[in-house]
Amino acid sequence: MKIAKDTLSFILEVSKSTAPMEFAGMLQASGDVITDVVIVPGTESSDESAVMQLFMLPNIPTVGTVHSHPSGNLRPSSYDLELFDRKGMYHIIVGAPYDISSWRCYNSSGEQIELEVIEYRFKEEENW
Ligand code: ZN
Repeated sequence: MKIAKDTLSFILEVSKSTAPMEFAGMLQASGDVITDVVIVPGTESSDESAVMQLFMLPNIPTVGTVHSHPSGNLRPSSYDLELFDRKGMYHIIVGAPYDISSWRCYNSSGEQIELEVIEYRFKEEENW
């Protein structure tokens, strides 16, 4: 699996601007490339509530989840592991300081996996 560089940059930017509140969203893919994030609005400042927001989302087509840990600790919490097991195959956690290495991807078992960052040509300009 891969992720578009622009999509990753977007995730890091939104997470940074949302801090100290948590950011949460669902990941969408084109083929084997994660290209889109559906943002969950109004997330509160605890990890539990961010994950609950993701649990309550309708079943939109998704390959996984993304959320931020403003503490900078990139390890999944027990709430996260339960979420990973139930909502898709790829789960990204980003954290302070929100630079290009401030993120990890996990599979549905909570094991860290590699996600290749690629340049991806979007079909249309997106209004971010
Ligand atoms: Zn978490």
